Amino acid sequence: MKTSDNEERLLLFIEQAPVAIAMFDRDMRYLSASRRWRNDYGLGERDLYGRSHYEIFPEISDAWKAVHRRGLAGEVVAAEEESFVRADGSIQWLRWQVQPWFETCGAIGGIIIFSEDISKRKQAEQAKRESEEEFRVLSEAMPQLVWASDVHGRADYFNSRWFEYTGQSFEDAKNLGWLSALHPEDVVRTQEAWTEAVSKGGVYEVQYRLKGKDGAYRWFLSRGVPRRGDSAKIERWIGTCTDISAQKDLEEVLQAAREAAEDASRAKSEFLVTMSHEIRTPMTIFMGAIQHLLEIDQNPEHRQLLDMADAAAQRLLTLIDDILDFSRIEARKINIDAVAFDLRACVNEVVRIFSLAAQEKNLVLDTEVASEVPERVIGDPKRLGQILVNLVGNAVKFTHAGEIHVGVRTAGEALEFRVTDTGIGIPLEKHPRLFERFSQVDSSLTRRYGGSGLGLAISKGLVELMGGNISVQSEAGKGSCFRFTLPLRLPV
Ligand code: ADP
Repeated sequence: MKTSDNEERLLLFIEQAPVAIAMFDRDMRYLSASRRWRNDYGLGERDLYGRSHYEIFPEISDAWKAVHRRGLAGEVVAAEEESFVRADGSIQWLRWQVQPWFETCGAIGGIIIFSEDISKRKQAEQAKRESEEEFRVLSEAMPQLVWASDVHGRADYFNSRWFEYTGQSFEDAKNLGWLSALHPEDVVRTQEAWTEAVSKGGVYEVQYRLKGKDGAYRWFLSRGVPRRGDSAKIERWIGTCTDISAQKDLEEVLQAAREAAEDASRAKSEFLVTMSHEIRTPMTIFMGAIQHLLEIDQNPEHRQLLDMADAAAQRLLTLIDDILDFSRIEARKINIDAVAFDLRACVNEVVRIFSLAAQEKNLVLDTEVASEVPERVIGDPKRLGQILVNLVGNAVKFTHAGEIHVGVRTAGEALEFRVTDTGIGIPLEKHPRLFERFSQVDSSLTRRYGGSGLGLAISKGLVELMGGNISVQSEAGKGSCFRFTLPLRLPV
């Protein structure tokens, strides 16, 4: 067949076109086909010129043949997308067009078929639809309220739990409409958290009360995370609201119980402070009377009874003083002084109190204040003395042979005090509760040694009020070492 220049150019164009395109004469014989067409139809490098499309593909459907005929009759037939079942059973999606081409004389010379395999795009669309469907099913399966919003934070999806709980419709809830279900007191806080998360792109987390359709509010924990696209830019926000009302109620109950317990404990401590104070006054009158009687009554029998009464009254007064101190510490009704004082003199005074008792038991009692310890420090000498009296008193009480050392040195920014003895020691299992009130290692010892079981609890309370800490190292039969620190403050 003789071809014109125009046709030549068209044939060349078709051959090189980057799409699947082929040109046929009126008998559906190939005039030209693009590389893409050859690939798509598995034609390779075969010489197609002059061969009929129907001869190469005898299985071609009548439907296609009808389309070709319409093209040959002058019609342009096209489909934006159409699916075909391939020979292997897989689905192929095509966008195609069949149109006539005209000879220079104006007669229809044949048809041009253009086709584009859009299967990949269709598959991607399908995958997207499936993953959207999976998200929807998953969000419906969740017991929480689920929401999603656009990048600006305008809600555009809620699962049905949201509508069931709030009674809102999608129209009510969309964009920022959902805020109307919020407790009025929580709106500002929620909006702030939301705006901040949206502007910073971080995780959004806030607790708020949501009104149910019955009008009652329940607490929810709302958490949202941004979904980022390929370029890491935030595309959407997806989140859940979890009902935490039960947890909130429990927290409130616990908090109320804690406050009630603290109130009760404070009330008890205050009662003890008042009571011990009240008992102290008649006690001193009572002890004064005994002293007075001892001065005037020379009857030996009476004097023996009065001595016993005096000793018992002294013990009772010590006990009352301990209870008073301990209660004051618990009720936080104790003042700690901050005055400059001579540390060595304070330590020596305590040792002096116990030197006679130590001598009577043949115990060595000495002190060692390291040279780097300053002469004068700032603190409460009365309370420091009280702690040392408790510890040294215990050491003397629970040691039958050997030595008791009182040492002071600096430890960083603190002063460290140690009271070491070679006494009966304290079994390891007794250590955890040792500093608790009324804790005595062995009640049979109490009968032997006396004591209230408050000394260590008071000492710990005082040390902690002064900003330090106290600990013990001891084992049964191997002596004890009580150690406490106090912040070192120097006079200016
Ligand atoms: P108490 O008035 O009974 O001495 P504390 O609180 O001072 O009360 O001491 C509690 C208990 O700890 C004592 O009863 C004793 O069992 C034990 N304890 C304290 N210090 C020593 C020590 N240096 N050696 C052995 N046991 C000690």
